[in-house]
Amino acid sequence: MAHEVPPLPYDYSALEPHIDTETMHLHHDKHHQAYVTNLNGAIEKHPDLGKHSAEDLLRNLNSVPEDVRTVVRNNGGGHVNHSMFWTIMKPSGGGEPTGAIGEQIKKDFGSFDDFKKQFNETTAKQFGSGWGWLLWDGKLKIATTPNQDSPLSQGHYPILGNDVWEHAYYLKYQNRRPEYLAAWWNTVNWAEINKRFEHAKK
Ligand code: MN
Repeated sequence: MAHEVPPLPYDYSALEPHIDTETMHLHHDKHHQAYVTNLNGAIEKHPDLGKHSAEDLLRNLNSVPEDVRTVVRNNGGGHVNHSMFWTIMKPSGGGEPTGAIGEQIKKDFGSFDDFKKQFNETTAKQFGSGWGWLLWDGKLKIATTPNQDSPLSQGHYPILGNDVWEHAYYLKYQNRRPEYLAAWWNTVNWAEINKRFEHAKK
């Protein structure tokens, strides 16, 4: 079965004022859809790939036929990254992290404010398009990837990730990426991030 863009789990306007409605429409309906369309195009050329989840394709990029490997890396990555992104945000989100991830952040970074500062500084410096990530490697680790590269391809299940492609913020924040990064924490869904933390530790 062909891959599909999952519906947004809330209204397009639900993350206002931090993420504007028009950005959500373009980002979800156009950008995410394009990744899915291109991924499906690669699978049409190699129908065997359709037996695997997009996550599994990214975990085993070297098993993907060479003529579509870059397409799968970029567009499978785009699909999986954005599918995560919509679920780790919610209306009236943000606040202090709860549960196990809240405790682990304190343990590994000292405080939530210190963690946010490090995450925002590291991610602001990602040159060009990419993502900022929180990963589990025996302890919490902040990382970035260029383009749509997924941490799954490096053996890491991302606990959370923020999209720093200009399409994620340019309409509202223009060139002010740090302002977007700071505001984004007001949207995060800590319950979902706790679920992902559990999964990452397995
Ligand atoms: Mn994006």
